[in-house]
Amino acid sequence: MKIIVGVKRVVDYNVKVRLKQDNGGLALDLDNLKMSMNPFDEIALEEAVRLREKGAAREVIAVSVGSPAAQNVLRAALAAGADRAVQIIAEPMPQPLDIARILGKIAQMEQAGLVLLGKQAIDDDSNQTGQILAGLLGWGQASFASAVAIKGEEAVVERETDSGVETVAVRLPAVITADLRLNEPRYASLANIMQARKKPIEQHSLAELGIVPHPQWQVLALNYPPARKAGIKLDSVEALLARLRADRVIN
Ligand code: AMP
Repeated sequence: MKIIVGVKRVVDYNVKVRLKQDNGGLALDLDNLKMSMNPFDEIALEEAVRLREKGAAREVIAVSVGSPAAQNVLRAALAAGADRAVQIIAEPMPQPLDIARILGKIAQMEQAGLVLLGKQAIDDDSNQTGQILAGLLGWGQASFASAVAIKGEEAVVERETDSGVETVAVRLPAVITADLRLNEPRYASLANIMQARKKPIEQHSLAELGIVPHPQWQVLALNYPPARKAGIKLDSVEALLARLRADRVIN
């Protein structure tokens, strides 16, 4: 079985993104920011590599859609254990429906048995791509996975829900999205990082895949959240209750 893993290049989770003046409005200031693999995609990749190590998969293919600079993320994926890296050049970054169409095309070309994605990309926080992809392909899906086991023609997946952990069996091929507790990704060794530099990265254009992006929405404006008002200190619980009543927070 081949596993496709979607790895998105995003602003590193440690970086606080700022806005800049642009065309009379505010825009994201992404100049000189540290960019990394989306953290949930690191977890998805680690799970795919573990499944291959257990003999449940033959090949792990990391796929990244976006600017040419996503090469770095694909090299990191190779260093972390992916067998192959596929880059789809697409600028500006396509929206989740188009990303799903692209990943679906690759999954079909590769005859993949499993697509493992992060539960969400931390830049757009969409949490849509895996679900849309399963719908487009007509495959089963298990989102927010905290444990994955391949049993014959099925994947048995523990899912994190608000009311507890749900265990589902999903027929393969399927789409699984990784939650935070699925695993702890390994650090790539220096030897693997050096080897990954020499490995080829396969590239496709959207035209080669026969895909024309259709954006579904556009950003109209960006603003900073309102500044937090200063708090006050009260001397007693009685004073707090009186204040909450005065502000009509409680009766
Ligand atoms: P989203 O629906 O945008 O929150 O993204 C969910 C998941 O889809 C991510 O964690 C990735 O695994 C995958 N994905 C989203 N965008 C891309 C991209 N540009 N390239 C590769 N995978 C992506």
